[in-house]
Amino acid sequence: MKKRQYYQLQVLSTQRLTPNLQRLVLTGDDLAAFPHTPAGSYIKLLFNQFGEPQPTAPEENQKILMRTYTVRALNKEAKTLTVDFMLHGEGVEAGPASHWSQSAKVGDTIVVAGPGTSKGLAPEHDWVILLGDMTALPAISAQLEALPAQARGYAIISIVSEADKQPLQSPEGIKIIWLVHTGSAGLAKSLLDIEWLQGEPAVWAACEFSSMRAIRSTLDVEFNVPRSQVYVTSYWREGRSEDQHKIDKREDAEQYSRHVS
Ligand SMILES: Cc1cc2nc3c(=O)[nH]c(=O)nc-3n(C[C@H](O)[C@H](O)[C@H](O)COP(=O)(O)OP(=O)(O)OC[C@H]3O[C@@H](n4cnc5c(N)ncnc54)[C@H](O)[C@@H]3O)c2cc1C
Repeated sequence: MKKRQYYQLQVLSTQRLTPNLQRLVLTGDDLAAFPHTPAGSYIKLLFNQFGEPQPTAPEENQKILMRTYTVRALNKEAKTLTVDFMLHGEGVEAGPASHWSQSAKVGDTIVVAGPGTSKGLAPEHDWVILLGDMTALPAISAQLEALPAQARGYAIISIVSEADKQPLQSPEGIKIIWLVHTGSAGLAKSLLDIEWLQGEPAVWAACEFSSMRAIRSTLDVEFNVPRSQVYVTSYWREGRSEDQHKIDKREDAEQYSRHVS
């Protein structure tokens, strides 16, 4: 098995980007060894069993909690790695990652593992749809920045409040649609509301688990989009920690592949 790579990083800055999004910029000499990865790649932030940030590479049998976050930006020259956290819950209700993102101070240390690469948009397409909630906003933003200038289609993002809108850098032919107060659940319905363009779309979506299933079924049943053109995944599940969600996700993927094969 490949040995996991750890990076010990410090908080360089912390900023409330919008009411429900906290940006932490991490820095450290370890970033010199961090590989260049495609837009939407992710890292694992390490916390100890008490939910505190893990400051050193874990011992062999140490119990560790890992939380997955998108690399919003990486600047190897400046030695910075930017992560945007959607804020959820207060105090013990918030998971370790959301809690830490709000309490982290400049100079705090955390160990990060990774990076991993997620699937992006299917490469052959005439137009695109990117869909997600605020947990996927960093991945969608990074993918929009990487699209060619002539790209056409939609980016549909569900946000908690009007004030969570943020300027996105994207090609002119991409229409940005912000869904406010619909929750992740509004994403599937939005597919019925947009005008579908001519030709083959590539669809990329990431959001809450039940919304992911609704999007997947809408694409299958209402639009019959070929599976090779679609990547739909869940980034979290209501009422389940990341560790529990991972189990649900695996079971769901197995069931779905049995159902379609
Ligand atoms: C590939 C990938 C990339 C991701 N990138 C990002 C990213 O860049 N930014 C980001 O904010 N998230 C991202 N996520 C989602 C993030 O990993 C989860 O939201 C994670 O559960 C947060 O960990 P936590 O410690 O805050 O909460 P946990 O300990 O995992 O959960 C505690 C409780 O909070 C609930 N909860 C978890 N997340 C949310 C949420 N977003 N809204 C409401 N309730 C929630 C859980 O259901 C649970 O009840 C990504 C996930 C994946 C798989």
